[in-house]
Amino acid sequence: MTAALTDLTLAEARDGLQAGSFSSVELTRAHSAAVERARPLNAFITETPDLALGLAEASDARRKRGGAAGPMDGIPIAVKDLFCTEGVSTTAGSHILDGFTPTYDSTVTANLKGAGAVMLGKTNMDEFAMGSANMTSYYGPVKNPWKGGDGRDLVPGGSSGGSTAAVAARLCLGAIGTDTGGSIRQPASFCGVVGLKPTYGRCSRWGIVAFASSLDQAGPMARTVRDAAVMLGAMAGHDARDSTSAPVDVPDFEAALSVGVGGLKVGIPKEYVVDGMAAEIGRLWEKGAAWLKESGAEIVDVSLPHTKYALPAYYIVAPAEASSNLARYDGVRYGLRVDGGSLDEMYENTRGAGFGAEVRRRVLIGTYVLSAGYYDAYYLKAQKVRTLIAEDFRRAFETVDVLLTPTAPSAAFAIGEKMDDPIAMYLNDVFTVPASLAGLPAISVPAGLSAGGLPLGLQLIGRPFDEETVLGAAHALEAAAGFDARPPGLDESV
Ligand code: GLN
Repeated sequence: MTAALTDLTLAEARDGLQAGSFSSVELTRAHSAAVERARPLNAFITETPDLALGLAEASDARRKRGGAAGPMDGIPIAVKDLFCTEGVSTTAGSHILDGFTPTYDSTVTANLKGAGAVMLGKTNMDEFAMGSANMTSYYGPVKNPWKGGDGRDLVPGGSSGGSTAAVAARLCLGAIGTDTGGSIRQPASFCGVVGLKPTYGRCSRWGIVAFASSLDQAGPMARTVRDAAVMLGAMAGHDARDSTSAPVDVPDFEAALSVGVGGLKVGIPKEYVVDGMAAEIGRLWEKGAAWLKESGAEIVDVSLPHTKYALPAYYIVAPAEASSNLARYDGVRYGLRVDGGSLDEMYENTRGAGFGAEVRRRVLIGTYVLSAGYYDAYYLKAQKVRTLIAEDFRRAFETVDVLLTPTAPSAAFAIGEKMDDPIAMYLNDVFTVPASLAGLPAISVPAGLSAGGLPLGLQLIGRPFDEETVLGAAHALEAAAGFDARPPGLDESV
């Protein structure tokens, strides 16, 4: 029984709970046991099995009374440790938040809790969500449940690497992550799961530890497009506490899946053919276009001329905002304090000890590009480039409904690779960053395997607040790709 329960999709589990085939307590116990067994992956920073059991019991009791709240009621999920959770330690993967236990929930986790979801624990992540490999966490690297050909340990991608590994290894039915420049989509591609970054403003950022406020967006990670649609419905919604939260209705995202792609115009942006992209990724991209065409879509070549400036612009805007957001970690208000002979020395000691190398690099870059002498040359210029990129997309969406691109330029790489070359690491985001800068919804769908037997994802990007079209196209792509490979050791129900 236990084995079968961790093998269900979220939608299957929802249906099983509704039919009374099993209880949330059984479902939760099976997943908590899987979390414990999978500790070598280092996917969780904090496990909360007792809390989960209590939530599951409450869900079962609600259901017995005929009062189950909806599709997420009783469903075990994992939460990236960037979301503040009431009474549960929240670290952002950083030493500087040592001992920080929020007295409140983020809006997204409160929404999920309100919908009856059962939190299994808080997942590991790159420090302050800065990274593409889950190598910058104070709590150590996360291992991808997929292995290299020679049995080597691979990165799960980042920064939501713990959430992604947990979904891929069947430790939870779904997980939440955040995406600033690709942190939901790129790890989804590396681990063979679905990852959706909604439109900026679709999910409230209130109570999420801030990285780059004009880019950060919460989203679901799951094993199917349907599961991601169900989760998004429970996460999204206007929130008066976040001034950038959009006052728009939350549609029935699951209903959008059955619309199909007949007559849909799918754009192929020619600028997404980049140097250094593996040939097999280009072939998969072509296959993806052919699948959508066979399913009834029309394929149209489009141009997004400023694409090549997206990565440099992102790596100015994101560090600039981060340097400002991270100023609050001063040894007084949160977490770690390392004493010194004066107040300034205490600040320096705390920040020196509390932040890792990548965070320090971003704070330095950010402060530099915002400094009086360089503001116009770097920050202001990057903001102008950002506008041009958004304008490119706006124009493309006059002729097409959705764009198809690869998610990442390679499959998962070995733990430790690219660590001495930040620019090579930043290149992971080449396909994900443009949609982030433009605030557009984008999803990664597992679409095939590399020559080395590792998952590869394809990305669909849509118009603002048109997650429905994105999900509908993703559902068709998923059906055509028929990706059913599993990480080793999970070949059959274990
Ligand atoms: N890899 C990118 C970075 O390091 C994106 C991270 C993210 O989306 N949080 O900034």
